[in-house]
Amino acid sequence: MHNPELTQVLEQAEALCVERGVRLTDQRKTVLRLLCESDKPLSAYELLDRMRNLIKNPAPPTVYRALDFLLEQGLVHKLESLHAYVGCTHPDHPHASQFLICDECGEVAEVEDPSVSTSLKAAGKAVGFRTKRPVVELLGTCAQCIEKRDE
Ligand SMILES: [Zn+2]
Ligand SMILES: [Zn+2]
Repeated sequence: MHNPELTQVLEQAEALCVERGVRLTDQRKTVLRLLCESDKPLSAYELLDRMRNLIKNPAPPTVYRALDFLLEQGLVHKLESLHAYVGCTHPDHPHASQFLICDECGEVAEVEDPSVSTSLKAAGKAVGFRTKRPVVELLGTCAQCIEKRDE
């Protein structure tokens, strides 16, 4: 995410929290900003490392609590296969997205195809499974990396 977009995402996050009557504290905002600034997903440890440059002795539980809050509010997503987090670029509506993870450059793209979540839900329901959260992560090579390879 780059500057104008980053500012917009942070402003939107703030407005959403006000609307929902929840508090986007400085710590939470810092975690969100770090995730949105990064061009790669960050693990909780990496986040903690980056926070050390900004505040004195950030405590791991604080980072985890901030992440829980941001996940709950749909402002960030967790990538299960990488044990890492990414900022969401369109947090204004609840969504189950799919993630395309490039194993060459580490870039992660979020796509939102409602038909994917609908068919997953139906597949679960057919066998009596109650889906809490569909996790869809595609591992592969992004368009830029494929292009570079062909050069
Ligand atoms: Zn999202
Ligand atoms: Zn790539």
